[in-house]
This record gives sequence, C-alpha cells and structure tokens, in this order.
Amino acid sequence: MLLKNKIALVTGAAQGIGKAIALCFAEEGADVIISDINESKVKETAREVEALGRKSLALTCDVTDFEEIEKGLKLCLDKFERLDILVNNAGITRDALLVRMKNSDWEQVLNINLTGTFNWTKSAAKRMMKQKDGCIVNIASVIGLVGNPGQANYAASKAGILGLTRSVARELAPWHIRVNAVAPGFIATQMTEKLPEEAKSKMLAAIPLNRWGKPEEVANAVLFLVSDLSSYVTGQVINTDGGMVM
Ligand code: NAP
Repeated sequence: MLLKNKIALVTGAAQGIGKAIALCFAEEGADVIISDINESKVKETAREVEALGRKSLALTCDVTDFEEIEKGLKLCLDKFERLDILVNNAGITRDALLVRMKNSDWEQVLNINLTGTFNWTKSAAKRMMKQKDGCIVNIASVIGLVGNPGQANYAASKAGILGLTRSVARELAPWHIRVNAVAPGFIATQMTEKLPEEAKSKMLAAIPLNRWGKPEEVANAVLFLVSDLSSYVTGQVINTDGGMVM
C-alpha cells in the first residue's frame, strides 16, 4: 500500500479521470474526499471509496467559488484533521475556433480549469504549510503543450496550469510540499466521448501506442507523484499520452 492512512482530496472526482484517481488512492490505503459539483454522483463515488474499506467525505463544491472551498476544507479538517494530498482534476472544454469563440466560453474554461486550480491550491497550501508536508498534483493536458485548433481557451488554461505548478513547486518546497502535474493525452471519458468521429480518428493516428488511454492509466501516474516513490520529484510534468508528445 503506497498511501496507507493518507488523507487525499480529489476535485472533479464524481466521474472519469478524477473518479479513477480517487478509487486508486483508496485501493492504496488512503481516505479520500470526493469533491465535485454533481451532488448525487459525488455521493455515489464516496460510497465506492467506502466499499473499498476506506473513509470518505462527499463534498459538493464548485472550484470557482473560493468561499465554498474554504468551507469545504474546514469540513475535511473537522473530519480528518489533516490533508496530505490534493489533486486538482476538475476541468471542462468549450471548443470553438478562435473567431467564433464566445467570450463567455473563454472565461468559463479559464475560470474552472485554471482559477479553480489556483483556488484549491491556495486554500490547501495554507494547511499543508502548517503540517510542513504535502503533495499537490494538477491535471493539465498535452494540449497545453502543443495547442489544438478549436481549443485556444482549453490550451491556455492547461498551459497556465503548468506555469502555476512550477511556480508553486518553487514556493512550497521549503515546507516539504511537492507540486507536480500530469498531462494526459486522449483518455476515454465522457469529456472525449462527445468528440466527432472524424476528430477521434485523426487523434488516434497521432498516438504511437495506437489506442486511447484509460482513466486508470492516468491515475497510476498521479499515484507515483503523490507517493514516496517520487520523494525527490517536484515541479515536473508527466505526459500520459501513449507517446503523442515526445
Ligand atoms: P469529465 O468526465 O468531464 O469529468 C470532469 C468532472 O469535473 C465532472 O464530474 C464535472 O462535473 C466536474 N466539474 C466541472 N466543473 C466543475 C466545477 N466548477 N467544480 C467542480 N467540479 C467540476 O472529464 P475527464 O475526462 O475525467 O477530465 C478530468 C480532467 O482531465 C480535466 O481537467 C481534463 O481537462 C483533463 N484531461 C482529460 C483528457 C481526456 O482525454 N479525457 C485529456 C487531457 C486532460 P459535470 O460533469 O457535472 O460538469
């Protein structure tokens, strides 16, 4: 067990990659706080964590609302007394070519993906600094590295996450808090299911391993970064993309 008795919080954990991360952590011995906006799915995932023999807390919380986050963190600390691991995973896409992109879609994607990551990091970091220990992993995307037509908002938000990760890794290192990122490629979840078939085949052709990734494969990369196996790793990005970007 790589995370025995650790307390972890995962945002956007009601489904997809976040849920796979939460269940992976529970299997490795962590108690996991499930945070997301979808109340019924949050509760369902929390029950799945408990079915693995670990404690959980279902937190319905919007990553864009800093006050809600501070209240949510207090609930976590009332129940678990510490927070060892934060995974900023909540994210959305609102795709459109630049000249057709609504300003509101630009703002919403930046707000949820980037500001949401900043909000939870700021709130959790204060606690982790008191503990003089902690691990933060931000879920970025290979699109933040190479860009993609129709995803200027998403690419900017994910590139922003990489800059945030490296700056915060430098700031928090003196408190023994490690901060890293995982950049998934194309992973089979509800987010990618809605893509047009043509776009899916084009993407598949660009993946050397010639298949889509599974949420559990992203979870394994995150597990490495929050466990002691990576005790000398901070400020790094692991691409989990079947070799798309190399
Ligand atoms: P997903 O299935 O859509 O899951 C994302 C979760 O985040 C959903 O439960 C969603 O709730 C929640 N969420 C949305 N807005 C939120 C908010 N304001 N506050 C809290 N939670 C919120 O997506 P996924 O594919 O698992 O993606 C997870 C992360 O991986 C995202 O950051 C994404 O950008 C990144 N990623 C995914 C891929 C991929 O190929 N799937 C590739 C690279 C990076 P609702 O469903 O109710 O909106």
